[in-house]
Amino acid sequence: MTYIGRFAPSPTGPLHFGSLLAALASFLDARANNGKWLLRIEDLDPPREQSGVKEQFPLVLEAFGLCWDEELSFQSERLQNYDDVLNELANQRIAYRCNCSRKQIIERCSNMVYDQHCLYHPPEPEQQCAIRVRCKDCLISFRDIIQGAHAYNLNNSGDFVIYRRDNLYAYLLAVVVDDFLQGITHVVRGSDLLDETARQIHLQQLLGYPTPAYAHIPVAANPEGQKLSKQTFAPALDTDNPIPALFQALVFLDQHPPNELLYASKDELIAWAIENWRIKDIKQTMAKPLNTTEQ
Ligand SMILES: [Zn+2]
Repeated sequence: MTYIGRFAPSPTGPLHFGSLLAALASFLDARANNGKWLLRIEDLDPPREQSGVKEQFPLVLEAFGLCWDEELSFQSERLQNYDDVLNELANQRIAYRCNCSRKQIIERCSNMVYDQHCLYHPPEPEQQCAIRVRCKDCLISFRDIIQGAHAYNLNNSGDFVIYRRDNLYAYLLAVVVDDFLQGITHVVRGSDLLDETARQIHLQQLLGYPTPAYAHIPVAANPEGQKLSKQTFAPALDTDNPIPALFQALVFLDQHPPNELLYASKDELIAWAIENWRIKDIKQTMAKPLNTTEQ
């Protein structure tokens, strides 16, 4: 079996414990399956980027013993590919221009589901527009390796944006194109992206791309119940002392590392984790607090 996995952080802030969970789980699943593991920097949103952060990512991952295969890649290097796909969808009349403001959508659509106004009233060519994808009568179902069977009717969320009105490619489009171009077969990432998966599968189907296997790990929450993230001020990973965080991440992922690994080297700990990786042991839950994962 060919296995190509990836970790794809965005440089909006330093890597934190939540990032480590996604990096470690995707790394271990790839290595346990004799697969490749790629590192991709999702630098598509320059205004939200924090300077100096993306240069740090490779150093932080190395400090945690997570070594990737092939060249590190950047989404900002693939803008032409995204543009080609936009044109392809527009030519098939699957994508259309929309210049509705958020305010107009709120006023017209009480449920916030876009009403396809611009599909029937195309904006003038000179107007600055977003680009939306049609998803009429789209029932998407998939079986997540951790979160089980899911089915979404995309009509409930409406035609979605793949190119933003502020001239940026939407994450949804870029991630689908990247996963295809890089031959990704397995996506292991945080459960906060589970709801995006159906739209990504819809795009894959429109473009004739294969759908990778998906595994959405639970996200770590702080004592207030908020997801650990840059927005909730999760502290940056301590590269001088990787063992405690790696150990805690394995506990969080229900891998039951023996306590003596706390005194092992980073390489020993990672080797144990690859050998003993059981993705099926990760409990089916979307989020759990960090402080109740102690054994
Ligand atoms: Zn519109």
